[in-house]
Amino acid sequence: MEINDVKIYEYDAVVVGAGLAGLAAAKELKEAGKKVAVITKLHPLRSHSGAAQGGINAALSEDDSTELHEFDTVKGSDYLGDQDAIELMCQGAPETIRWAERMGAVFSRSEDGKIAIRPFGGQSKPRACYAADRTGLTLLQTIYEQAFRAGIEVFDEWYCADLLYENGKVKGVAAFNIRNSEPAIFNAKVTMFATGGYGRAFKINSNAHANTGDALSIVARRGLPLEDMEFVQFHPSGLGGSGILISEAARGEGGRLFNSEGERFMSKYAPNAMELASRDVVSRAIMQEIREGRGVGPNKDAVYIDLTHLPKETIMTKLPELRELAITFLGQDMLKEPIMIAATAHYSMGGIPVTKRCQVKSSPSDLVEGFYAAGECSCVSVHGANRLGANSLLEALFFGRQAGRAMLEDMDSIEFVKAEAKDAEQMIAKVNGIKTNNGTERVPELRDELQRSMTIDAGVFRTEESLARQKEKLKELYERYKNIRIDDKSNTYNTDLQEAIELGHMIDFSLFIVEGALARKESRGAHYREDFPKRDDDNFLKHTYSKFNGEYSLDIDYGEVVLGKFEPQERKY
Ligand SMILES: Cc1cc2nc3c(=O)[nH]c(=O)nc-3n(C[C@H](O)[C@H](O)[C@H](O)COP(=O)(O)OP(=O)(O)OC[C@H]3O[C@@H](n4cnc5c(N)ncnc54)[C@H](O)[C@@H]3O)c2cc1C
Repeated sequence: MEINDVKIYEYDAVVVGAGLAGLAAAKELKEAGKKVAVITKLHPLRSHSGAAQGGINAALSEDDSTELHEFDTVKGSDYLGDQDAIELMCQGAPETIRWAERMGAVFSRSEDGKIAIRPFGGQSKPRACYAADRTGLTLLQTIYEQAFRAGIEVFDEWYCADLLYENGKVKGVAAFNIRNSEPAIFNAKVTMFATGGYGRAFKINSNAHANTGDALSIVARRGLPLEDMEFVQFHPSGLGGSGILISEAARGEGGRLFNSEGERFMSKYAPNAMELASRDVVSRAIMQEIREGRGVGPNKDAVYIDLTHLPKETIMTKLPELRELAITFLGQDMLKEPIMIAATAHYSMGGIPVTKRCQVKSSPSDLVEGFYAAGECSCVSVHGANRLGANSLLEALFFGRQAGRAMLEDMDSIEFVKAEAKDAEQMIAKVNGIKTNNGTERVPELRDELQRSMTIDAGVFRTEESLARQKEKLKELYERYKNIRIDDKSNTYNTDLQEAIELGHMIDFSLFIVEGALARKESRGAHYREDFPKRDDDNFLKHTYSKFNGEYSLDIDYGEVVLGKFEPQERKY
């Protein structure tokens, strides 16, 4: 890759990521007549949003209210969520559903013709709107068609590798074309990251291969902070062995959990909500049963979810894809027998800190000019320490639109700063460095070691000892990464190269997860410290903001949580 080959594209706005958040923003911008480029390493329809099965929350029914939705979300967040952002999102939820519907999203219907809703964990009322068990795909197809119709320009199979950030301002990104390694600068007044989550840092996870948290490490390497990275959600029901998701809809429709002794064990952990307690509670219950020897399966590392008491019709119409997944990957048919599940790394609550207008923060109180983020890569923070099921598609759509509108509002007062080819220098040095490095370490092996150790030592259960061990492991992996070699030196669809870059990103942001978890000597939401099993509001009702200081070490700082009408209480289900 050569500096002389760098092409410079100029746009009003550049959006990185073509999942729900990125496309929602791009559509807003394009419909207002702006010139918008969407850069995505995958075809938009392959974004992880399309894998979402269960639903999208909105208080639509007569006995529900947006206030109750807010309360459930605040409680689910273990009081770490910012209540102003939560209020905004929950109040905007019904309109977001209507907007998606008007665009053409076909939701499942109840018998009276209304949008059907199903119960989900941690919610006082059924409020997850759904399209069978393909909710994300339905929404993604719809918004992609509409954004496409509006005329957005999509650069698909382009890999964003750097952020052009200088003097408190962003002027675009550096990226390369995965097809032929052509380097380019996308120069714009406003730039948005909507790059999704980082579940691939863990061995057992429910995420797409692309969910490698690239943008987080790109932002962090530019000296900007990441927020609340220690909060990683483990979903209770990944298929045994692989972690492929069996949506919460399976519990929402009535699935029951059993251990090897045939005991419906949730009665010990959440006697009221049972299987529909929030995800962190159910995941820990499952893993506790397994740790105490009451697991099922050849390795005793799973529990059963039983749906055999449900009418066949329910499974065939409401959960058909889940049934197929369990048959394909486990050979178990949920119509006839219970299927094996265990907790799986699923969702990242932490990310790039942003305001309610989705503008990126450079500290708890300062903003970056021209830079926005929304969706799973961002931390706004509506999920706090634990996200409720079906709140994330809502977040991606609601805050994606919000980001689009904020960019429109701000654009006129932002000066266009011209980029030059040399702004791609760091990206080029990185790519060429990986290609010419002739070390002895192999990317798949390092990645496997990273994922396994993160799952064991920074997973559902954490202690000072396990986290300290993981910090050392990460330092070792960081050093060994300098000594990698890839065999493919070509410029065409070089997946060796891409995977090597992605591994570097995963090693970088994993340090934020582990250091944040080490420093947070309490248990809150998805972050569970066995040595500090209680929540500690006196010392830790605060957001973590960490940034790189030096090569591979961090400074940790904290910012205030926005409280509101709901006073912190003990969380019980
Ligand atoms: C299996 C599964 C089921 C789920 N079910 C539900 C559910 O039922 N309800 C719910 O609310 N939530 C659910 N979630 C969570 C939810 O789907 C996601 O949080 C949400 O869709 C994220 O949307 P996004 O737009 O932020 O990112 P994504 O949809 O993940 O899109 C990320 C985009 O960024 C691009 N990208 C990333 N890195 C780069 C790079 N370096 N260069 C260029 N492009 C890049 C990708 O190509 C992609 O287009 C589920 C998640 C999973 C994994």
